[in-house]
Amino acid sequence: MSDDPRFKPLKEQDGFAIIPDRWKIDYFASAGELSRFFLELKENAKIMGTRCPSCGSLYCWPRSWCHECYVDCEWEEMSPRGGVVVFSRIEINLNDLQQMQPPFIQGSVLLEGARYPIVSFFRDVAFEDMHKGLPVKAVFLPAEERTGRIRDFYFVPE
Ligand SMILES: [Zn+2]
Repeated sequence: MSDDPRFKPLKEQDGFAIIPDRWKIDYFASAGELSRFFLELKENAKIMGTRCPSCGSLYCWPRSWCHECYVDCEWEEMSPRGGVVVFSRIEINLNDLQQMQPPFIQGSVLLEGARYPIVSFFRDVAFEDMHKGLPVKAVFLPAEERTGRIRDFYFVPE
């Protein structure tokens, strides 16, 4: 039989069905007009959003144009502070590509002034102390560890 994981039988771990498969794709993706978001993360430890000059909506994740007004948005630095919207504790490692070793907490945060929440990780907080609306602030990795990706920062309780 082949070593191809797609032909191996389904496994069960902690009550979850683990389906063997392989996805190995090397690729480059352009962030296009929203490249500044990733560059500012890496180079200046800033979270950038965009604001619609028509309706005032502040988007982070940034949008190049407002989906309601159909006008171009303008860059604006986001507050690093916000409140927890949803969260979950990750208990199992589904693959070797997972960004952090479990257990860890991930979820979404509504940054001050933002229209929609962003997804990130939480540190320095016990799962039992997490709740909707918990005030949190973004903490950036040291400059030499930042790679221009969303995991360049995480949230901690205020
Ligand atoms: Zn708008």
